Amino acid sequence: MNTYFNHQAGFVSLVGAGPGDPDLLTVKGLRLIQNADVVIYDRLVSADILALANDNAEMIYVGKRLNYHCVPQEEINDLLVEKAQQGRKVVRLKGGDPFIFGRGGEELEALVEKDILFEVVPGVTAAAGATSYAGIPLTHRDHAQSVQFVTGHVKKEGQGINWASLAQSNSTLVFYMGLKQSGSISDNLISNGLDAKTPCAVIEKGTRRDQRVLVDSLDKLATLASQVESPALIVVGSVATLHNKLDWFNQ
Ligand code: SAH
Repeated sequence: MNTYFNHQAGFVSLVGAGPGDPDLLTVKGLRLIQNADVVIYDRLVSADILALANDNAEMIYVGKRLNYHCVPQEEINDLLVEKAQQGRKVVRLKGGDPFIFGRGGEELEALVEKDILFEVVPGVTAAAGATSYAGIPLTHRDHAQSVQFVTGHVKKEGQGINWASLAQSNSTLVFYMGLKQSGSISDNLISNGLDAKTPCAVIEKGTRRDQRVLVDSLDKLATLASQVESPALIVVGSVATLHNKLDWFNQ
């Protein structure tokens, strides 16, 4: 196989682990994990994927701690730099895709500052993985001609998001990190002109064995969201109704 595989000492591979099902890991991601001296990973990386690492690899968890506080981003950046400078082969493993709401860019900027070489290996992002396993095509000629990925994690209500443009876009809207803000997401969309009866889905633990999919209308979004646990994805748009026809995962 002719590949670009080139994991050397002092090199950092930023790898997307996909949304949960370990078989959704890329072949390149798998080879890098098996070859790594150090694996620095987040909360959303599944145990089955971590188990693929070499027995001698140092495994460092940098997700939320028991007290629910995240490891500060600077601490993670410093750790990556430190391990790379020790001449280790480092895999920085993140759930989904590292460049989609994954702060992958910030970590790479820290490496650039220290002249550390790196590569990026994409992963299946939750929007692709969870909707595939829910039987919800993000685009469909009869439903939506575009799709937008939006963070639901906004500092103040609505800040930084152009709700009018989202509400009037005719796109399928996918909200990451939106569970806690689900009420304000639906309020903002409806008050900016999106029909309250627009279908929406909440996909809990997408691609995992215990995945659950709930479908209702946008005005019921907060009720749907209150019934699920993190991680969950919110999909707004008429494609959500296709779940009823195309659900294959629970057959
Ligand atoms: N980089 C990741 C996203 C990290 S942000 C990616 O590309 O997927 C974390 C958010 O992603 C969660 O709050 C949730 O909204 C979503 N998410 C991640 N994994 C998920 C899963 N298995 N099922 C549903 N949503 C998921």
